[in-house]
Amino acid sequence: MMATRPTASPVLALDGVRKTYRLGTHVVPALQGVDLQLQPGEMLALTGPSGSGKSTILNLAGLIDSADAGQILLRGQDVTQLDTASATLLRRDAIGFVFQSFNLVPVMTVAENVDYPLFLAGVPAAERQQRVAAMLEAVGLHEHAQHRPDALSGGQRQRVAIARALVKRPALVIADEPTASLDSHTADQVLDLMREQGHGHGAAFLVATHDARLLGRCDRAIALLDGKIQ
Ligand code: ADP
Ligand code: MG
Repeated sequence: MMATRPTASPVLALDGVRKTYRLGTHVVPALQGVDLQLQPGEMLALTGPSGSGKSTILNLAGLIDSADAGQILLRGQDVTQLDTASATLLRRDAIGFVFQSFNLVPVMTVAENVDYPLFLAGVPAAERQQRVAAMLEAVGLHEHAQHRPDALSGGQRQRVAIARALVKRPALVIADEPTASLDSHTADQVLDLMREQGHGHGAAFLVATHDARLLGRCDRAIALLDGKIQ
């Protein structure tokens, strides 16, 4: 008898999502009905020219902004119905962010930057210390634990950002042009690291990118144009 494989439920599902920005009388239809699904462990690339809506999708999926219409399910939960406090909690527990410009806290050491999400989540100090050390070891930065970000190269800073995004073992990692500030060799290393560390605990990745090299390292790509999937 053939065993039926249970269908994994998507980490993230967008259904008919619309978003319009209004600047005075200027109306920008940033997303015009976007459907997509992201499975556990999958790395999905969002491509498309500047202004096509990539960052808008990431901001909605990351609970940084809210949709005008449509449904967004994160781990099966409809996030369009959440109040601000619940959205903040869900973002903190379920989502890690990696940005083009790293967005590290300059006055904190490398270890403090990576520790911060665990601190916010109320993880006990002893466990935090252990997890931060293990994460820094994994991204090859344990020797820089006490340095500040401005003492590091771009690639090292992005590795700190990856460590910070993954240390809380999020279900979803959102990366907006994560390699755009890096040379191609460093970009490859950073991406491999993201995959390797994320796959260890089944994180799904949603990555906006212009970078053809990065595309080849993703499981699947979706092309956007004028707020629509091509
Ligand atoms: P991408 O990341 O693909 O470059 P964006 O999602 O940033 O595209 O932008 C999609 C469209 O929405 C663009 O026309 C952009 O100018 C507009 N847009 C994005 N954010 C805002 C905002 N906060 N206010 C007004 N318009 C915005
Ligand atoms: Mg963008």
